[in-house]
Amino acid sequence: MALIVCPHCGGQVSDTVERCIHCGKLIKEKQKNSAVDFQTFDKIKQNNLEEEFQKKYPKYMCPYAKQKALKCRRKYTIFSRIICGAGAIDFLFLILIQTKVLDLNSDDTMLMIIGPIVLVAVLTIFIGAAFCINYTIKSKKLIAKYLLYEKLYQVWLLNEKNISKKVDFTGLNKKDKKYFENINPDLYL
Ligand SMILES: [Zn+2]
Repeated sequence: MALIVCPHCGGQVSDTVERCIHCGKLIKEKQKNSAVDFQTFDKIKQNNLEEEFQKKYPKYMCPYAKQKALKCRRKYTIFSRIICGAGAIDFLFLILIQTKVLDLNSDDTMLMIIGPIVLVAVLTIFIGAAFCINYTIKSKKLIAKYLLYEKLYQVWLLNEKNISKKVDFTGLNKKDKKYFENINPDLYL
């Protein structure tokens, strides 16, 4: 028994089954007869295949979408850490004031120092949140583009050329994989 890629949904299925366990569609005998592995081709042949696909479906092209998406995710992580830091500062001062370790009423200079720090920290949280939301939306869109492209390319290779190609999921998470599996290529090709 070997694992093959379903030409309809891209899910992995055993080559012994008649219908895909993911989408229920029929798997043809031709597809079962072990497709050629994309990795066995040299770079030139791989590029030629991709160019052929892109010429046929130019609207799905998304150069560097994955790299850009991963960059957005890294920025999201940075900003979420900044938010946590600012939140911790505010929380610390709140505790100090509540426990009267810092007595703002008795000391005007303390208020002059702590007031701006707390204010900046609060502003940082709001601005950081805006950046986080922005990067989340951006990365989601880019990942979706990348995965759609990879899915269609994979299905096209298998159906038109009898070539099986693995999708590069490095840097992506389980949710992305799930999203990829749920793309229905019949809607696009
Ligand atoms: Zn399927």
